[in-house]
Amino acid sequence: VLCVSQDFDFFYFVQLWPGSFCDTKQSCCYPKTGKPESDFSIHGLWPNYKDGSYPSNCDPDSGFDLSEISDLTTRMQGSWPSLACPSSDNMKFWSHEWNKHGTCSESVLNQHEYFEAALNLQKKVDLLQILKSAGIQPNGRFYSLKSIEEAIEEATGHTPGIQCNVDRSGNSQLYQIYQCVDVSGSNIIECPVLPRRSCKSTIEFPSFRGQTTDLSL
Ligand code: 5GP
Ligand code: 5GP
Ligand code: 5GP
Repeated sequence: VLCVSQDFDFFYFVQLWPGSFCDTKQSCCYPKTGKPESDFSIHGLWPNYKDGSYPSNCDPDSGFDLSEISDLTTRMQGSWPSLACPSSDNMKFWSHEWNKHGTCSESVLNQHEYFEAALNLQKKVDLLQILKSAGIQPNGRFYSLKSIEEAIEEATGHTPGIQCNVDRSGNSQLYQIYQCVDVSGSNIIECPVLPRRSCKSTIEFPSFRGQTTDLSL
């Protein structure tokens, strides 16, 4: 049996709230595959060290190969859309995530396993449902950071990392949720280190609704 060393300690599984990506000064663009659902979407599955640092771009020879994940792309369009401008077919985002992060966990997960692991993690924990059950809805209201952290901790058994950004009016808002995952890519664990705090104690949970290209409202 080959013993392959792991060159990282855990993964961050990071999901973003599309409403908070889109209502910033920078705005957003829906992918050519259509307007994303009103749900958290995957940003990435990122190998990390427990001191908070992380490896990146670990294997320039391992290019993103769409043919290896052809059975996953329909699910990925729904769960892992790219919202950056200009509108894309998501491929640039996925290949960026593979090249920057995925290649650093190749000792454990090949390309197919890597993307499938992220899809399965998202399915395993329905963050929006967890928050809604705790009365925390994407309706533009403000909620205490603590209530958000506690709802997720109670439902999953582990404290999440919450990252905020700022909307056009300067409000601190729920942007990304970090969960920690063991090196196999399948089990949520307690975070060895949480991302730097970026939220006010009370934060907005903006709505995300369908709209035209004019996002300036
Ligand atoms: P930002 O500066 O927008 O938070 O992050 C920019 C990029 O740096 C992210 O998209 C991600 O690729 C990488 N990054 C930021 N923080 C972390 C981290 O704590 N761990 C890992 N592995 N990557 C990170
Ligand atoms: P990171 O390096 O932070 O993992 O990934 C962010 C990079 O992917 C940025 O260069 C960004 O332009 C690109 N990107 C493409 N689509 C998206 C998206 O929907 N969300 C985010 N956060 N980045 C995206
Ligand atoms: P990157 O250089 O990694 O493309 O992006 C740098 C930062 O800008 C990241 O935090 C990424 O999420 C953000 N970003 C990139 N493109 C867009 C965009 O079209 N809209 C918004 N709101 N943020 C973006």
